[in-house]
Parts: sequence; structure tokens; C-alpha cells
Amino acid sequence: MADSFREKLRDSVLNFFASTCKDTTQLVSEEMDHRISITKQWKIKFHLAICEFCRHYKEQMETLRNLAGYLNKEGSKIGNENQLKSSAKERMKKLLDDKEK
Ligand SMILES: [Zn+2]
Repeated sequence: MADSFREKLRDSVLNFFASTCKDTTQLVSEEMDHRISITKQWKIKFHLAICEFCRHYKEQMETLRNLAGYLNKEGSKIGNENQLKSSAKERMKKLLDDKEK
């Protein structure tokens, strides 16, 4: 009985450390979208410690994310410009309406 417990423990420890690159890249993406469990965070940490490929993947994802955030900000600036334009339109319309009166 003690042996089967030891085997189970060994298997679960091995499973924990032996996450594949596929699993890890999915977890990295998941981590960027929302908060993940501590177990998943540790799985990522352990895998990244031994896998250069996944470290690069994570760096690239972070770069893309930052870039997307930057573009989003720039996009909302353009949105604000459009709002200014529409407020300018309103002012012009008012002026024209006042002239016609
Ligand atoms: Zn990997």
C-alpha cells in the first residue's frame, strides 16, 4: 500500500515537471488573458527554467501584447480626434443654424 502511494506520488511529481512545450505555450497564453492558479504558474516557471524555446515564446508574446496595447492606445487617440471632429461639426451646424435665423 505504501508502495502504491509512493508510485502515485512519483507519477504526479513527474507529471507536474514534465509539462510539454505545447502545454506550456498554452499556459503562457492563458496567463496573459487572466489570472491562473499557482500550480499552473509553477508549471510555467519550471518549464521555462529548462526550455529556451518557451522562454523565447513568452518574450515574443509579451512584446506582441505590449505592441497591441500601444496600438490600442493610438487607436483610441484617433477615436478622440473623430470625436473632436464631430463636435466641430456640431459647432458649425449651430453657427449655420444661427445664421439662417
Ligand atoms: Zn518548452
